[in-house]
Amino acid sequence: MRLLIMGPPGAGKGTQAKGIADHYGIPAISTGDIFRGIAKADEATASELALQVKNIMLSGGYVSDEITNQIVAERLGEADTAQGFLLDGYPRTAGQVDALDQMLAEGGTRLDAVVSLEADQDELVSRLLKRAEIEGRADDNEETIRKRQEVYVEQTADLLKVYADRGILVGVDGLGEIDEVGERIFAALDAKLGR
Ligand code: AMP
Repeated sequence: MRLLIMGPPGAGKGTQAKGIADHYGIPAISTGDIFRGIAKADEATASELALQVKNIMLSGGYVSDEITNQIVAERLGEADTAQGFLLDGYPRTAGQVDALDQMLAEGGTRLDAVVSLEADQDELVSRLLKRAEIEGRADDNEETIRKRQEVYVEQTADLLKVYADRGILVGVDGLGEIDEVGERIFAALDAKLGR
């Protein structure tokens, strides 16, 4: 099963990605987690990449396609992805969509389904502000939160259409309790994939 989960920041992608990965026994790969790891691990040495990634994340913008695609290609080259994977937070630009298609084509595979978590943006901003209080994520202040929503609308929302045109998009209502949304996702995916 080769899956993506997409949706606006704060829709619960990370939480649902872990649930989907557990349910189907595939690894969940989050580019946001990978970048947070890079920014943090290199704090002591302050490598150029770490500083760059950190500043971009703090601004709410996107890391370059060049860096992002390379990181994903390396991760998808690891053995645990042979039977499938779920990508969370990637692709986010048209260039990343093309790069992913190419990576998969090289391995003779392609995506099976793309889960689109749908949620109202105002509701999401207030959810993110609450998460900022609880988790203290460095990129969760009001300005960055609004900026991330804007960047999503400008650069990422249209990508859903690409996957809809391919007939692999699975829309799921993302509002509700975590387990309830999870069950909705499993049911929608099973129906789509004929499982
Ligand atoms: P996330 O945890 O998915 O919200 O990602 C947090 C931050 O990491 C984003 O705001 C971006 O700065 C960066 N990031 C994560 N995934 C990508 C990607 N696919 N392309 C570019 N930047 C990314």
